[in-house]
Formats: sequence, structure tokens, C-alpha cells
Amino acid sequence: MDNRLVSIAIDGPSGAGKSTLSRAVAEKLGILYVDTGAIYRTVGLAALRAGVGSKDAEGVVALLPGLDIQFRHDENGKQCMYLQDENVSEEIRLPEVSIYASDVSAIPAVRSFLMEMQRKAARENSVIMDGRDIGTVVLPDAGLKIFLTAKPEERARRRLLELEAKGVETSFEDVLRDIQYRDKNDSSRATAPLRPAEDSVLLDTTEISFDASLQCILDLIKERFGL
Ligand code: C5P
Repeated sequence: MDNRLVSIAIDGPSGAGKSTLSRAVAEKLGILYVDTGAIYRTVGLAALRAGVGSKDAEGVVALLPGLDIQFRHDENGKQCMYLQDENVSEEIRLPEVSIYASDVSAIPAVRSFLMEMQRKAARENSVIMDGRDIGTVVLPDAGLKIFLTAKPEERARRRLLELEAKGVETSFEDVLRDIQYRDKNDSSRATAPLRPAEDSVLLDTTEISFDASLQCILDLIKERFGL
């Protein structure tokens, strides 16, 4: 591993602002943003398309050897997801895929299937990687770990705005239900549950604006890496 590379882990529940903030940090510092949720979503989509139930662990595991999942970053640093060489970056954002992603991600074989591609990205690049278990499992030696959170209602409000901007029709109640379902699933699973790493910095953004949250993260990075 190249000692000059930096790894920043951002974990937290759905809708806490991890992806928007990570993308902004990556752009500002010229490092790679790796969205690991998108990778789990791609497995979820594969199961959905194959007609396998999201909780049918045996059925999902049987699909894994035949799956070709890759992520590539375009020249603007945007991460695109490929399933059997098809760009599925838009489709994985659909609400039904969110639920599938959360269910399949509780299957230990799915998590180990995706581990190496995440670690490889951090071995080869300076990264800011977001997910649920980056600081605890994927990159336990990350130089900076942040656990980003916000109240469920505030996360639902932000997620609704995002979905509306993309033209997805849904309601506040449905988005909140989805967030609560995933919070419970992600924190209660036996393998790599959502929890702050012991050496992480907790950042609750419920009452803080996007700009203030971004500045706070940039200050932490400056302090830790001098970047
Ligand atoms: O981050 P995002 O909401 O796109 O992730 C979709 C789902 O993938 C999450 O609800 C979570 O269950 C799962 N996930 C995970 N571990 C990660 C990233 C996402 O289990 N590192």
C-alpha cells in the first residue's frame, strides 16, 4: 500500500447526507468517492430482476457466482454501477431496490463477495468511502472515521426532496417508513451491523446546514492529514 494514500470512512444510517457530503469532499480534495451502498444496491437489483425474494438467502447466494458487478468512475468522478456490463446507476436508486439492498446486505456471503472490490479501491487510490461498516470492517485502518447521523424525520425530509428532484413519486410517510425499516435492519443484523467505530468522530447533522457539515468534515481532514 502506498503510504501517501489517505482513506476516509464515512458511516451512518440512510439519508444522513453521507453521499452528498462525501462527493463534495472528494471534489474539493481531488480524491475518489466510493459509494458502497450503490454496490449493495446492484446485488439487490440483480436479485429483484432474477425474481429471487430479498430474504431468500439461499436463492441470493446462488446468484453470486454468476454476477459481474463493477464500478467505474467517469472523468467527473461520478461512480457508475455496472451489472453484467449494463449501466444500472439510475435503476438502483428506485425505492424497491433500497429495500432489496438492505435485505440482501444482511447475508454474510453477499458482504464477503463485495469486500475485495471495496478494499482494492482504497489500496489503489486516496478515497472517501461511505457505507455502514467502512470504519468497523472494510477499512479498519482508515486515517479518519466519521459517523454521520441525523433524526429519522429530518433524513426522510431530505431524502424526499432528493427523490422528488429525480421525478420519483412518493410520500413523506413512505420515505420515513423505508428509512425506519432500513435503520432497524442495518443495525440489528449479525454481520457488520451499523454502529460507530470506537475511534470515529460523531457528527449529528439534524440542526446543521450542508455547508456547516461540509466545513466540519474538511476541518477534521485538515487536522488529521494536513490536506
Ligand atoms: O447507502 P445506501 O442507502 O445506498 O445503501 C443501501 C443499503 O445497502 C443500506 O440500507 C444497507 O443495508 C446496505 N449497505 C450496507 N453496507 C454498506 C453500504 C450499504 O449494508 N457498506
